[in-house]
Amino acid sequence: YAAKDTKNGAVVYEPATTAAPPSRLLLLGDLRRALAEAEELVLYYQPKVALASGELCGVEALVRWHHPTRGLVAPAEFVPMAENTGLINLLTTHVLGRAVAQASAWRAAGWTVPVAVNLSPRCLTDPALRDRVEGLLTEHRLPAQLLRLEVTESAVMANPALATATLRGLHRLGVRLSIDDYGTGYSSMAYLKQLPVDELKIDRSFVVNLSGADDDDAVLVRSAVDLGHNLGMTVVAEGVEHAGQVEALRRLGCDIAQGYHYARPEPADHLRPWLQPAPAR
Ligand code: C2E
Ligand code: MG
Ligand code: MG
Ligand code: MG
Repeated sequence: YAAKDTKNGAVVYEPATTAAPPSRLLLLGDLRRALAEAEELVLYYQPKVALASGELCGVEALVRWHHPTRGLVAPAEFVPMAENTGLINLLTTHVLGRAVAQASAWRAAGWTVPVAVNLSPRCLTDPALRDRVEGLLTEHRLPAQLLRLEVTESAVMANPALATATLRGLHRLGVRLSIDDYGTGYSSMAYLKQLPVDELKIDRSFVVNLSGADDDDAVLVRSAVDLGHNLGMTVVAEGVEHAGQVEALRRLGCDIAQGYHYARPEPADHLRPWLQPAPAR
């Protein structure tokens, strides 16, 4: 993994073929400590943009670990480890607390922006999740519809009965739900129909090669858009990196886009320009 300096002085790990990945064992001890102190785990936020108007319609919270010696560590490096070691509920509690507090602070400053948090498969079988979310919303006086939770289909399918019950409980609180990475996982239309989900996020892998041509990816994206719309959902494209994709997505009827073309995930402070009314992007 190669460290890359960013403009705010943080270091991001990017996949590289040279160095070996950091020692899992060492990181695990560090992660336990980081979760206990919780100062090293920070949330970055990435805008979601309405394709028709160019307006901000939400942000996704993405966790990063400010490791004292390794720099900024990406979630792919430690979220799976947290899932496998039972630390995931602690991590999720931490992330949810930060995200709800941030949404509440933005709202107090006059910016009403829904914040999305990613949930791991294990969270969907955590019987305490609903009450924890309700407690956080109450504590920070955040209207439930300003919190969105993203889950993958595979996470639901790992334990459909329990996951569906958890998601229904959260939905009854007024929390919004999204299917993340749509198209990559074990997909069941039967469950998709039953879930109280109002947003479908098309995985980046279908967007990356999207161009003007009517290629296979365009066919897949169009069918996902149609499926989502027919089920009454808003459809989001992930990983939008250039204007050609924006054009194609508009033509295919997609509602919202997210990706480096608009903005990278950034610390909350950096979102200020997005939170002011802005001309079409
Ligand atoms: P995800 O939820 O699908 O998040 C989107 C990922 O794509 C993010 O990577 C984001 O930085 C990246 N991305 C956004 N736009 C572009 C683009 O235009 N091009 C490319 N190449 N990538 C783009 P990130 O932040 O490294 O997160 C990776 C995954 O880790 C997330 O995928 C999510 O599954 C998981 N994750 C992140 N934060 C959390 C968290 O707080 N809790 C849990 N349980 N999982 C998290
Ligand atoms: Mg997500
Ligand atoms: Mg995703
Ligand atoms: Mg993804």
